[in-house]
Amino acid sequence: MPLIAGNWKMNLDHLQAIALVQKLAWSLKDVKHDFGDVEVAVFPPFTDLRSVQTLLAADKLSLALGAQDVSPHLSGAYTGDISAQFLSKLDTRYVLVGHSERRHGHGEGDDIVAAKAKAVATQGMVPMICVGETAADLEEQGAAAVPLAQLEAAIAALPKDAEFVIAYEPVWAIGSGEPATAEQAEQVCAALRARIAELRGAKVAAETRLLYGGSVASQNVAGYLRQANVDGALVGGASLDSQEFSRIVQFKKHVTGA
Ligand code: PEP
Repeated sequence: MPLIAGNWKMNLDHLQAIALVQKLAWSLKDVKHDFGDVEVAVFPPFTDLRSVQTLLAADKLSLALGAQDVSPHLSGAYTGDISAQFLSKLDTRYVLVGHSERRHGHGEGDDIVAAKAKAVATQGMVPMICVGETAADLEEQGAAAVPLAQLEAAIAALPKDAEFVIAYEPVWAIGSGEPATAEQAEQVCAALRARIAELRGAKVAAETRLLYGGSVASQNVAGYLRQANVDGALVGGASLDSQEFSRIVQFKKHVTGA
């Protein structure tokens, strides 16, 4: 099933988070969105998770909850870190690992990303592993080399039966208003799926969802989802606007023209 995920980044306090989720839920109810057809997940900041979890449970909303980061450790003397155990207790289903804003802003390398992905999986959640090349990587090595190396490193320590999601996010496209073309996204996602097949077999490769992220909006989302190897989108800025995010979630209407 396709997955549309909204990464709020460091935006919205817990009261604003409740308001946004309510508006999104109303908007999706208005259009009779079928959550069995397209899965929708939101990734609020840590301090909003409990409020959003409570709202989703009280109103029986079918949105999945995601977290933006996690500690590679499960407990102990790691001041400021948030354990995968805590996230799991909040009914968190997905956890972003390796977002470029963590890799580049916090110096997180492939080893930390791998440890985080493992911590998430061992607590019964699904790591959403972000991979993507910088503009310099693109020029020097082409589009796929860095994402493939990041994929390989991130899943190396995952249990063989662990579900994971890959978000291909070219760093140059994130928050830039300069999205990759649908063909560029497809090319890299096809290469990622082929590498997953080599590493984990054809069945896992077919079942693993590959998302595109980087300046996704309602005007361009359909182009990505039309591609054979793009199974969803990771949306940053546009996920903060309930109407716009709702239109993105309804990408099928754009694809079929219905
Ligand atoms: C992101 O934060 O993962 C992202 C893709 O951001 P944006 O959609 O704003 O480019």
